[in-house]
Amino acid sequence: MSALAPRADLESLPKYVPGRTIEGAIKLASNEVPGGPLPSVTKAIAEAAAGINRYPDTASSALVARLARELDVPAAKLAIGCGSVSLCQQLIQALCAPGDEVIFAWRSFEAYPIVTQVANAVSVKVPLSSGHALDLDAMLAAITPKTRIVFVCNPNNPTGTAVRRDELIRFLDAVPEGVLVALDEAYKEFVSDTNVPDGVEFTHTRENVAVLRTFSKAYGLAGLRVGYLVAPEAIATAVRQVYVAFSVNAVAQAAAIASLDAAGELLERCAEIVVERDRVRAALVEAGYEVPETQANFVWLPLGDKALAFAEHALDRKLIVRPFAGDGVRVTIGTPEENDLFLAAAREFPR
Ligand SMILES: *Cc1c(COP(=O)(O)O)cnc(C)c1O
Repeated sequence: MSALAPRADLESLPKYVPGRTIEGAIKLASNEVPGGPLPSVTKAIAEAAAGINRYPDTASSALVARLARELDVPAAKLAIGCGSVSLCQQLIQALCAPGDEVIFAWRSFEAYPIVTQVANAVSVKVPLSSGHALDLDAMLAAITPKTRIVFVCNPNNPTGTAVRRDELIRFLDAVPEGVLVALDEAYKEFVSDTNVPDGVEFTHTRENVAVLRTFSKAYGLAGLRVGYLVAPEAIATAVRQVYVAFSVNAVAQAAAIASLDAAGELLERCAEIVVERDRVRAALVEAGYEVPETQANFVWLPLGDKALAFAEHALDRKLIVRPFAGDGVRVTIGTPEENDLFLAAAREFPR
């Protein structure tokens, strides 16, 4: 008998690099919102905490019912997950046999290649356009008979660029019906361009479109882990089948509902971040940086070989940003004071 060993391919599994947290430093590295939970949300969390000797509702029924009403979709088309990262993995597990292909842009969300490999599927990375945006024509051309899913991250993490309605409809019309297009809308609430569509509209009329959303970003619940999927009923059912039972805990479910109750106030905060985002981008452009137009709560600096040096320079000033070696730096929009400190650091960076 051979010795016990993990799957050989795990040695090649890319590592998820979380934004660093350093005592006393300002974290602009994980696309979180700077504001803490509202008192109404903290209260819901405390009330839910009183019941944690019991298992959570594994179907997240109350949250499903609430989202069905908010989004005007049947509950059967929804699935709740332990963060939308988990839903990405569930989608692949639910649709792909070993060796099937999953297409996404690169660079895009760093979890995609990891969850693809964990689910025994094969990543197909399609380079971004010269403008750092998704190249939908190239993604379409990459589809083969083995393709099951195409992730369209809109806006794209980490570049912030967004795909507009006309361009997306042309793409959806051309994708074969046996391929699922997963619209990852983690940053939807920061989109200010009205030509960027709400993906849920496509789930009403198309059988091969799914939308992923999260409470981690605009709703400020990154630490609690809850997201949702809207998809055709057969897809949503399959995603629920591969769900790890009870993985969305009761506190997260209660906090998500309380956050929907407080949506007005939370989305107002997002509007303030959008104002700051546009100010920060304009100031960076003014300082001579190339910064793609962004519809998210972060900016992308395509600094190439200088990415790590820029991050070190920022850290010397107690600012944590998120470098991608050899490629660029993603900087989350914080409070106006934090953003001013970042802009001062960027202006001082020797180029
Ligand atoms: C942050 C993010 C998510 C959300 O992750 P959660 O697991 O819900 O915290 C999903 N997709 C993208 C592109 C993201 O940037």
